[in-house]
Amino acid sequence: MGLDVCPGHLRGLLQESVIASAPVFAGTSMRVSRLMLVTLRETPAEAEITSHKLLLRAGYIRRLSSGIYAYLPLLWRVLQKITAIVRQEMDATGALETLLPQLQPAELWERSGRWAGYTAGEGIMFHLTDRQGRELGLGPTHEEVITTLAADLLRSYRQLPVNLYQIQTKFRDEIRPRFGLMRGREFIMKDAYSFHGDEDSLRQTYSEMDLAYRRIFQRCGLRTVAVEADSGAIGGSASQEFMVTAEAGEDLILTSADGSYAANQERAVSVPPEAVPLASGARAGGAGEPLSTPGQSSIEQLCGAHGFEAGQLVKVLLLLARCADGQLQPLLISLRGDQQLNEVKLANAVSALLAESHGALLSIDPLTPDLVRNDKLPLDLGAIPFGYLGPDLADAVLAGDPSIRDGASGALPSASGTRLVRSFLRLTDATAAELAAFVCGANARDGHRVGASWAGLGLRPEPLDLRAAQSGDRCLHDPDQCLQSARGIEVGHIFQLGRKYSEALEARFTNESGAEEALWMGCYGIGVSRLAQAAVEQHHDADGICWPEAIAPFEVIVVIANTQEAVQVELAETLYAELGAAGLEVLLDDRSERAGVKFKDADLIGIPWRVVVGRGAATGQVELVRRAGGEKRELAASALRAVLEAEIVRGRAGVPAQA
Ligand code: ATP
Ligand code: MG
Repeated sequence: MGLDVCPGHLRGLLQESVIASAPVFAGTSMRVSRLMLVTLRETPAEAEITSHKLLLRAGYIRRLSSGIYAYLPLLWRVLQKITAIVRQEMDATGALETLLPQLQPAELWERSGRWAGYTAGEGIMFHLTDRQGRELGLGPTHEEVITTLAADLLRSYRQLPVNLYQIQTKFRDEIRPRFGLMRGREFIMKDAYSFHGDEDSLRQTYSEMDLAYRRIFQRCGLRTVAVEADSGAIGGSASQEFMVTAEAGEDLILTSADGSYAANQERAVSVPPEAVPLASGARAGGAGEPLSTPGQSSIEQLCGAHGFEAGQLVKVLLLLARCADGQLQPLLISLRGDQQLNEVKLANAVSALLAESHGALLSIDPLTPDLVRNDKLPLDLGAIPFGYLGPDLADAVLAGDPSIRDGASGALPSASGTRLVRSFLRLTDATAAELAAFVCGANARDGHRVGASWAGLGLRPEPLDLRAAQSGDRCLHDPDQCLQSARGIEVGHIFQLGRKYSEALEARFTNESGAEEALWMGCYGIGVSRLAQAAVEQHHDADGICWPEAIAPFEVIVVIANTQEAVQVELAETLYAELGAAGLEVLLDDRSERAGVKFKDADLIGIPWRVVVGRGAATGQVELVRRAGGEKRELAASALRAVLEAEIVRGRAGVPAQA
């Protein structure tokens, strides 16, 4: 695929530094009869995507509850292999392994300003009150804990830089746990946190981690793309995600054809398609000419009936932002009719405007009758002509029923501190702000205005970037190229955090000139359990999983075609012992099942090499099958060990197998 955006100068480094791995399980062999293996012929109803189905069917995982899975022995071997690769590459960068508490006092999160955002609204932190009445959170991430330790332990520039990592379970009460291990509520993560005396040192470690991540994913046999990412709730400046490209991915990635630009759509920028000016008949410069548009409340209806282009329209969205201090701020968002809202960009813009005075932004929801009803908001949405809104919609529509004021009639209990702001925060995307004349709603049912201008509406919008870049848009860095899209699974994320947490949690050190200053920080995550499933999503066929050799639970499966045949049993046992003694990881399928059943299971669980001991056993012949691609060869049993050793050592060194 043309998606490898690994820059040329990094590619060389990557190849040089492939570390021949010390296999974690060298020589550990096992009989399938002892493996508690339960494979399923039917696809379990709970699974939607292929990798989830295959992990369930092949006996790798079982679901205990929503987003909570048991890792069965086969998967545990895969996870330990991934972990070993991650550990080796982290250690090679000089990072120190540690293990931090999962139970985290609320007080730390209050100090960083994240408690409310992580526990209220759409917050994802499981939290509880202990028997002393103290609040605790179950670690979704560890910035607060590690920064508190850094404040205690790091005193002088002489101790810097340091990078600490851990590999352990994380807890997140995801809004939509799904796709098995892809989005669990309990999952395994490697997280690392670095501390520095200055920004250059942070950048240096960030690029070392970038390289280490590329090596990790390459060694795990994954094709990944590094993309510019949004820094989200975690804060900070530069950040990059590593995406496993796969159709089932939840993220949309936009890349330029030459590979020099790649970004998560949440963050991506582009040149918007040019807008076609309104026909000369429509006079610009005023509040627009009224146009009767009965029943034409959608862009398609309006364009269909009057021949407008979507890019000549300004559409207006009505949303409600909730802040940690209880403020409910109505938002009026204006976008060019042919553009879509990027919710992440919007949340960042709203946070930047409100967070300082009103605390963390908890959520942004469409202002709908359901929301008004469920939240008992003192608003009369009937007074708002949805489908016919203009950017100059008057704040008066938020007055609601004058008999219901804040805190009165139980509509908004003042005890909860909730407060509805009775004026809009108006935000306008640049593509809309730049239109000289446009069509927009008349703020009255069944009517629009044609040829309106911002000045004519009495508005002076600040142009913001709120639109979603799309596949097909021209690239900013080179308008001759267009953005292409692909789906991706985020397996890793690296951030330059800066001093956000060290300032909030007072983690300071003494610099070379004897002055105290806040530490610079970076943080670096890999979703270990998600990575295991992403590998299946990228490596499977119609018959089952095709594990990359480096992370397969076993390297070889020896299948006895007919356990009634003493010759077959004897030869298989000999090979099993011989291969195991040679340090290979071998499964022996010694079950008294039919050969066909055992072959199907071997394909399903995806062991890279299958040795079939069947009729040829009488003359010392076996069949060797490569799982990926299905290539078969007959060979003398006596030659098997040498052939496999050559193949598997090659696999371990990260050289892609040839199908
Ligand atoms: P996402 O955007 O997918 O929710 P995130 O950006 O919140 O993930 P980070 O905080 O960057 O995730 O966590 C580091 C890594 O942990 C991610 O790159 C991902 O691989 C993994 N991860 C995050 N959430 C989950 C989850 N619910 N289940 C499994 N792995 C996860
Ligand atoms: Mg992330």
